[in-house]
Amino acid sequence: MRFYLASSFLFPRSFRLRVFAICFVATHVPLLGYVGWGAATGRLALPEFLTLLLATVVGMGIALFGIGALLAPIHVAQEALATLEEGGNVEPLPQGSDDVIGSLLGSVNRAADAADSRMRALDLAAKEDMLTGVRNRRGFLADVAEMLPAERRGTIALLDLDQFKAVNDRFGHDEGDRVLRDFAARLSSELRRGDLVARWGGEEFAALFRGATEEEAGRVLARVSERLIAKPLIVVDGQAMTFSAGVCRFATDESLEEAINCADEALYEAKETGRNRIVRANRGGQRALPLD
Ligand code: GH3
Ligand code: MG
Ligand code: MG
Repeated sequence: MRFYLASSFLFPRSFRLRVFAICFVATHVPLLGYVGWGAATGRLALPEFLTLLLATVVGMGIALFGIGALLAPIHVAQEALATLEEGGNVEPLPQGSDDVIGSLLGSVNRAADAADSRMRALDLAAKEDMLTGVRNRRGFLADVAEMLPAERRGTIALLDLDQFKAVNDRFGHDEGDRVLRDFAARLSSELRRGDLVARWGGEEFAALFRGATEEEAGRVLARVSERLIAKPLIVVDGQAMTFSAGVCRFATDESLEEAINCADEALYEAKETGRNRIVRANRGGQRALPLD
């Protein structure tokens, strides 16, 4: 380390050139020694001098080429670390030998793996609702937007638990949280594998029914609703807790935002007309129709 620091005046911005400079000097030592000895003794001979000069040039060429090539993995590792520092992705570096370069390349690969899994975990956490474990609004919008180009059609539903404030008021906030968690699990278990569930916020949930019509989505939600009556998550004043929902079909030629707004309007209608119901969107001048 001391020599590295002490020699930093030589090409301070290029380690490669510094090594080359030292290598250049070192490979010329025999030639310089011969010239010094020859000058001191007067026995300098041209053929020996030329042979030694040729040997020095060849030796220096081999040394510079070999050292330059051996330094390459350090540069590769340094570039990979700089990319990681900027938050970029790094392809796995080749495995080195069982030496200091192999160990350096291995460390860079492990650092890249660790950074990658941390990024994935952070990304997942940013898309997940902490309380229920389903997607949050951000995660839902991101996942739906990712699917949309391939997805020809589907139905969006917005669900809102009925009179949920009373659950908190009667049983406390912790019990309210338990009901939200159980509702998210119940809803997720009723949907098909490719469908998505999210907590939209508070006691509101969103669902994407891939490739489904409003009627099909409505039937699934009606089944969830029936099961909430048959096997309540909580009973308030002798009544099983229910939910209201608005469903709206979407196609690729309309924006996701439009479909969500239209599901929201249908949900509003469900609340306005008495709660505990599933309402299809009111579009094209048609009246909103309860599905149940
Ligand atoms: P409505 O049928 O009109 O939807 O009535 P509501 O009582 O469900 O609706 P309101 O908007 O009046 O109240 C929603 C309640 O949801 C109030 C709020 O305290 C509760 N809430 C929102 N987020 C949480 C949460 O994370 N945990 C718990 N326990 N309660 C929550
Ligand atoms: Mg609400
Ligand atoms: Mg509510």
